[in-house]
Amino acid sequence: MREIVHVQAGQGGNQIGSKFWEYISDEHGIDPQGSFRGESDLQLERLNVYFNEGQRGKFVPRAVLMDLEPAVLDSIRARPFGQLFRPDNLVFGRTSASNNWAKGQYTDGAELCDPIFDIIRKEAEGCDCLQGFQLAHCLGGGTGSGFGTLLLSRLQDEYADRIKLTFSVIPSPKVSETVVEPYNAILSLNMLVDVGDEVMLFDNEALYDICYRTLKLSHPCLDHLNHLISTNMSGLTACFRFPGQLNADLRKLGVNMIPFPRLHFFMPGFAPLTAMGVKPYRALTVPELTLQIFDPKNMMVAADPTHGRYLCAACIFRGRMSMKEVDEQMLNIQTRNSSYFVPWIPNNVKTAVCDIPPRGLKMSTAFLGNNTCIQSLFTRLLEQFNAMFRRRAYLHWRHWVKFLSFFLSFFLSFLILSFFFHIKVILV
Ligand code: GDP
Repeated sequence: MREIVHVQAGQGGNQIGSKFWEYISDEHGIDPQGSFRGESDLQLERLNVYFNEGQRGKFVPRAVLMDLEPAVLDSIRARPFGQLFRPDNLVFGRTSASNNWAKGQYTDGAELCDPIFDIIRKEAEGCDCLQGFQLAHCLGGGTGSGFGTLLLSRLQDEYADRIKLTFSVIPSPKVSETVVEPYNAILSLNMLVDVGDEVMLFDNEALYDICYRTLKLSHPCLDHLNHLISTNMSGLTACFRFPGQLNADLRKLGVNMIPFPRLHFFMPGFAPLTAMGVKPYRALTVPELTLQIFDPKNMMVAADPTHGRYLCAACIFRGRMSMKEVDEQMLNIQTRNSSYFVPWIPNNVKTAVCDIPPRGLKMSTAFLGNNTCIQSLFTRLLEQFNAMFRRRAYLHWRHWVKFLSFFLSFFLSFLILSFFFHIKVILV
């Protein structure tokens, strides 16, 4: 069995991570006590990718939950599915990163790094054939971003040959009021270029727009956003968790999706996304799903794929459907929109079908695109970063000063050059 060790860090990371576990436990028929209550062997077959088997048939998530303050972990423990997690694997500090990336990376976070790393190592050593690690975190705060990336760089040192996948939430002023978030996000992205192998970006800006415009929610809150992220996380990991051929593990996903090592920032999408009032008027069919999944409004990053080109893409269809119809529809969409796909990677859209749909839906599709338009997300963050950094705003929070100036010059030049260069290649 090829196991994955899951880590979640910081307030936001723990919220989306615990929702993810709730959803996948439900899909595999695991109840809050950890007992299997499923009806099908398919639910059990690859359960060990994410779960350890404990005493008396109890399934325990292979997850490490950490934060620099206790409040969020206490609230997770108090939920029905909170009992599922192994109590030793919940680690918290008594301070807070106060939205300061350097506190998570160099001071308070660094102090907690050794005990947490011991737990991760123990989980990794308990695996038959570890395929890699996945981290859920938000890039706008101090713990998920500063400490999360510190953990990744430690993992890179110790487990260089294992894949490190992240589910990274990008901050947006529409959702949060904290002004230093662009600093935290840019410093983390700079590290994710080197220490992350596969980065799935969830942009709070796009998630807010989906809730407001598509789902017609008048006051979207974090729970709504987290529901979208976790549903998509469960869709994207369906290939790892259920038997199938395509992208069946982290490495195969990377091989299909990453033509150049540094261009590993993916744009997730999900279909169907339909407002409650519109549901009865829309049939859920394969052509409808295929149309929706390539719609810019269904992307979870605020960047328009029609302004760039797809280097690679993967679609994971879930539910009972005809494989022939899926193939036809996918071929249709690629032929009709061939200008949006780079011509120098033939067959760059991969499709998988998994029989088991997510709860509450007859069928669904999770999408993952490696599109050059992702640079507009980086540009947006850089503009916000520059606006403050030009005036040295907030740099009196001493921890920042020495690191910022170094990273800024390095990161800016790298990112712009890297994307500029690849886009040139693509256009030629
Ligand atoms: P940390 O605990 O220091 O890592 O800080 P947070 O995880 O609270 O990070 C702050 C950033 O994450 C802000 O941009 C918030 O908008 C975002 N954030 C915090 N909690 C959530 C959440 O539950 N869901 C989503 N989507 N974003 C969150």
